[in-house]
Amino acid sequence: MSLSEKPLTVRCPTCKRLVPWTPEQAFKPFCCERCKLIDLGEWAMEEKRIPGESLTLENDSDEDAFFQ
Ligand SMILES: [Zn+2]
Repeated sequence: MSLSEKPLTVRCPTCKRLVPWTPEQAFKPFCCERCKLIDLGEWAMEEKRIPGESLTLENDSDEDAFFQ
């Protein structure tokens, strides 16, 4: 005789996944921190923070060839 309680869910605005509306969901209405950052446009800034190490390595080998 008890109504089965339907868990409240929302859709992640970024990836449209169903997210349970619970205190554990720190990033609601987003499903995860990444989706939240993507929606805020901050993910691009995160990408830019990755150093171009491969470019540095290429420059190093060029310099070696130059000095020999
Ligand atoms: Zn998401």
